Amino acid sequence: MKVRIDPDVCVGHGRCYALAPEVFGADDHGHAVVLVERPEGEQADRARAAAANCPERAVVVEDDA
Ligand code: SF4
Repeated sequence: MKVRIDPDVCVGHGRCYALAPEVFGADDHGHAVVLVERPEGEQADRARAAAANCPERAVVVEDDA
């Protein structure tokens, strides 16, 4: 899997980096940045939880084909 943030819709709630702090961080404005582009194992599980809990649907999970 691969994760990315859609910067056009991220408003900086911070739920993603609260739920998956190893995978997502914050820039100076509180908007999310990806720290680990291809999380695995428990990090991947937490990244999926972050995607499910982002109110803006700004966390994009792309599963490998
Ligand atoms: S939870 Fe969504 S809107 Fe909030 S910082 Fe993370 S990606 Fe951005």
